[in-house]
Amino acid sequence: ATLSSMAEEVEKQTFDVERAALLVQELRGSFNSGKTKDYEWRISQLKGIAKMVEEKEQEIIQALHEDLSKPESEAFVSEISMTKGSCKLAIKELNRWMMPEKAKTPMTTYPSSAEIISEPLGVVLVISTWNYPFLLSLDPVIGAVAAGNAVVLKPSEIAPATSSLIAKLLEEYVDNSAIRVVEGAVAETSALLEQKWDKIFYTGSGRVGRIVMAAAAKHLTPVILELGGKCPVIVDSNVNLQVAARRIIAGKWGCTNGQACIAPDYIVTTKDFAPKLIDALRDELEEFFGKNPMESKDLSRIVNAYHFIRLTKLLDEAKVSDKIVLGGQRDEKQLKIAPTILLDVPEESLMMNEEIFGPLLPILAVENLEDGFDVINSKSKPLAAYLFTNNEQLKKHFVRDISAGGMLINDTILHLTVSTLPFGGVGESGMGSYHGKFSFDAFSHKKAVLYRSFDGDASVRYPPYTPGKLRLL
Ligand code: NAD
Repeated sequence: ATLSSMAEEVEKQTFDVERAALLVQELRGSFNSGKTKDYEWRISQLKGIAKMVEEKEQEIIQALHEDLSKPESEAFVSEISMTKGSCKLAIKELNRWMMPEKAKTPMTTYPSSAEIISEPLGVVLVISTWNYPFLLSLDPVIGAVAAGNAVVLKPSEIAPATSSLIAKLLEEYVDNSAIRVVEGAVAETSALLEQKWDKIFYTGSGRVGRIVMAAAAKHLTPVILELGGKCPVIVDSNVNLQVAARRIIAGKWGCTNGQACIAPDYIVTTKDFAPKLIDALRDELEEFFGKNPMESKDLSRIVNAYHFIRLTKLLDEAKVSDKIVLGGQRDEKQLKIAPTILLDVPEESLMMNEEIFGPLLPILAVENLEDGFDVINSKSKPLAAYLFTNNEQLKKHFVRDISAGGMLINDTILHLTVSTLPFGGVGESGMGSYHGKFSFDAFSHKKAVLYRSFDGDASVRYPPYTPGKLRLL
């Protein structure tokens, strides 16, 4: 056999524990060489990623369309320009982020000075998901590279077109001795998880998050888990109804058709107001997606048959299917489900207890809005919580009494675009955060360094501990 056919053969072999170990060893070699720590190296990789997004925009949009029928403008706004934005910010701010931070010192160490140094962790693993398969793969990689790490990215096999495009493009645009992509599913991820990493950044479900954390624990590897949950929306009756309805729709069906970690999962409003809210949602949905939303080009499809069946099961449960007030149409062949609104779904139903992650939106009608707080607090802490109101008191109570990864008053999802805010979960919705400088910090160790001279050598700290010395303390 020729050398190249042997190389091809090796390439075809499954990615197993042995190959994973070799990969980590290779990347560790690159990290230990010190090159990834250099400001110049970091900047050139970030510029490479920015150039890649700029030059391959159409290919990326095409892959997202293949994987999810993601509408072009959605793909552009939430994947292409968000990734570009993260890159540009990191390039602009990196010098400042890398600067040691001066720290005050106490009298007990006088004379001294101190600083906190952001040091890269080493070789890190990023495991990504399929709903924003480009952004959620590249965004953590940008943080890892900015912080000076070597990184392996494992994109999601559930968005295969985007996964293979990312693998192909990163090979072309960045330094492969320190930045690599491993494609694959459970077997490949498991082989990666057996290795010793310096940090694992995982985006996906809590079920797999537990597997990731258990694997990390064996090596005392720290993790960031970006998980999901049921994101509630409380809607008061004193709102600008049309604007509220539009913003709820944009956050739900305008985000990969509800397949988004911070998409509204359920609404809580008052019994009196629910019919008005439903009317407004109906009007605006028709305005956005036409009379037959199944035909709309502006809605993503359900990602695959597994998720289509999962969602139809939620809809078809007894005492749920008769609660549909809008939508409900489905097409198994095209994997499409219309925007669907339900009213008063029983609290013990699957729909009210599992993350929906799709185009179904149940509305819970309560006597007064503060009852909604109890509903939210009876469930696991969500990744995002939303409130629409003009009542200042209610805003205060909401911020004080509801725990969530993040919250947004009078809109949905936009908090994710604010790079000065950390993005991450709490409790079941995850741990750790990123975006902007928080991404840099997520992949850095804050090293404490104290500098002293040979002055100030007070004898009081040394034995023998005489009563005279003790009085001086
Ligand atoms: P998932 O957990 O099934 O898959 C995510 C990743 O884990 C994939 O790369 C997959 O290959 C890998 N994986 C799957 N099974 C594995 C196993 N047994 N062992 C090792 N690795 C395994 O999650 P998903 O269905 O892709 O994502 C849906 C969830 O992700 C939702 O809960 C959603 O809210 C959450 N999510 C969170 C964010 C966020 O930023 N917090 C963003 C998007 C999605």
